[in-house]
Amino acid sequence: MLTNNEISELKILLTQNKSIVITAHTNPDGDAIGSSLAMYHYLTKLGNNVNMMVPNQFPDFYNWLPESDKIINYEKQAKLSQRLLKEADIIFSLDYNALSRLGTLTEIVKRTTGTRILIDHHIDPERESFDFCHSSTDTSSTGELVYDFITKLGDENLIDKKIGEAIYTCIVTDTGSFSFSCNSPNTYIITSKLIALGVNAEKIHKLIYDTYSETRLRLLGFAISNRMIVWEELHAAIIYLTKSDLKKYSYQVGDTEGVVNFPLSMAKINMSVLITEKDNLLRSSFRSKGSFSVNELSRAHFNGGGHRNAAGGKSDESMDKLIDKLKTILSNYKDQLDYKITL
Ligand code: 5GP
Ligand code: MN
Repeated sequence: MLTNNEISELKILLTQNKSIVITAHTNPDGDAIGSSLAMYHYLTKLGNNVNMMVPNQFPDFYNWLPESDKIINYEKQAKLSQRLLKEADIIFSLDYNALSRLGTLTEIVKRTTGTRILIDHHIDPERESFDFCHSSTDTSSTGELVYDFITKLGDENLIDKKIGEAIYTCIVTDTGSFSFSCNSPNTYIITSKLIALGVNAEKIHKLIYDTYSETRLRLLGFAISNRMIVWEELHAAIIYLTKSDLKKYSYQVGDTEGVVNFPLSMAKINMSVLITEKDNLLRSSFRSKGSFSVNELSRAHFNGGGHRNAAGGKSDESMDKLIDKLKTILSNYKDQLDYKITL
């Protein structure tokens, strides 16, 4: 967390009409987009010239967020992105703990000379890459840390409905609509303040979750019926989707979001994996309920990481090989996966 000296320094730094670029991680989710927008509105209010940037496209179901159309997609505007990053006085890193999470933007950001500020809730932030770190793992979302950051700088009064909607989006998406990472009173204290600002929780839920296309819903049905393997003895289940499966169901960015959670709704399943074939890489999403750490699993075996109960990873082997590998590795974790959730 930030020291009092750092807070004073930041307070001065952020009120000097600076050029700022806000960056968030590859495959941006609700927390990445929401925290970027919340910081964007806040820093703009302080009089800065602010841009938001992501390495690749974010799902359409965040398009309703005011000014989300201003988020620059590096894949589409590489030259502009490079120039803005080079010229930036300050670069914010939101919702990721290491520059490698920027994927195609990593090397470009590494070469920048601006002051780097991290706001994030992942384990083990890469502190040496940043000048300031506002990082805590027992927080629902980066959005919650943005609320905290603005408050620490003495500007809670600047948090308006628009910033509130962005932060609410972070909290609701990173807690799976208040079903995980949601046991801290502070999450509800902040949420209640957001609702008091006029944030409409019911509408936001619908805008994010009730936006399926027919093909997206049918893809979910297909995934569960035809592409789910349950390893009951390992208390684990996987769903795999090939490139041609995704094509058949007219895959759009965001269509597989949430699919990985469904196997966890089985009583005896404590861990779930969704493998998707995208470009020539297999992306894995890991989820667990309870004590099993998918962050450790992914770090150790799947070139990734994340949180205890939600992590991602990638592999360049074939689907069959990866599924075999998963089964072998999970067999070694059999005892750690064997538990029952009790109160
Ligand atoms: P998802 O499965 O939704 O893509 O990601 C779940 C969580 O793991 C998110 O918090 C995300 O930031 C993190 N994550 C996803 N992929 C990676 C990865 O390749 N490396 C690391 N360190 N974290 C990841
Ligand atoms: Mn997050």
